[in-house]
Amino acid sequence: MAHPVSVTLDVEDLRPSPDLPERAPLMTNRVLDLFADAGVRASVYVVADLAERHPEIVRRAAAEGHEIGLHGHEHVPLPVVGESAFADATRCARSLLQDLSGQPVPGYRAPMMSLVPSSSWAVPMLSDLGFAYSSSTLPAPSPLYGWPGLPRRPFRWSSGLIELPCPLVRVPMLDLPYLGGTYLRVLPDFVRRHGQRRAASEEVLWTYSHPWEFDTDEPYHVHEHIGAVASRVAWLRRGRMESRVRRLLSEPTAAPLVERVEALVVGSLPVVDYAQPSVLGRAARFANGRLRSD
Ligand SMILES: [Zn+2]
Repeated sequence: MAHPVSVTLDVEDLRPSPDLPERAPLMTNRVLDLFADAGVRASVYVVADLAERHPEIVRRAAAEGHEIGLHGHEHVPLPVVGESAFADATRCARSLLQDLSGQPVPGYRAPMMSLVPSSSWAVPMLSDLGFAYSSSTLPAPSPLYGWPGLPRRPFRWSSGLIELPCPLVRVPMLDLPYLGGTYLRVLPDFVRRHGQRRAASEEVLWTYSHPWEFDTDEPYHVHEHIGAVASRVAWLRRGRMESRVRRLLSEPTAAPLVERVEALVVGSLPVVDYAQPSVLGRAARFANGRLRSD
């Protein structure tokens, strides 16, 4: 039996230059229309600087019953934000979303799944700021950000924060985050269905997408922070995204992530010490946030 997935959306503005037209509000509304058509409540993680410019996005998502979460004060990976700037910026960003939505913001998702050993200082800060959970880790080697060796089921950081790691499927030699983003667009749909059937019962499955992935009218741009190859990948197969998501939404879905967290038996979760990232597996050379050449 296929395990149902929670639906999540990362709302961000990836324009390489502010001189280009801002398409994120238009595309976010289109995705929210898809959710409304399907009658699905999602977890909508919003970058605060976008919310500040377009508060109507947060207000609409909240009014339609979606959970509002934080996707960073800006769309900058945690190792780049740095330890000294993180707490204040994140506190302000969370307050903004709470004010705009009129609801608590218990969930945090790091930009680009960038909670990695070199940014593990963020874990106790997120706890201190009042977040209940994070869905910020990719527990496998990754060309961008990954933390191999972490549990693939919900776990508790030693600070008390609950982590819902990005779901993975094993295909020969590789563990892929098959339920979201590029992988959802590019992989054959049977890979998704296979992953949902093979998932362990204690996993919390969630899909993720971004408004720009539905944007077939946006010209190709190189995004300097991810490079030419990843920029090309981000642009590929956007024409498939809407049909893929529509199909997924037509199947049974699970509640927003905050409700999955509330249903967990916290005492039964594995505990990971954020200060001792010794859980790294044999692929640890990938683990510090960037693929290393050594
Ligand atoms: Zn993002």
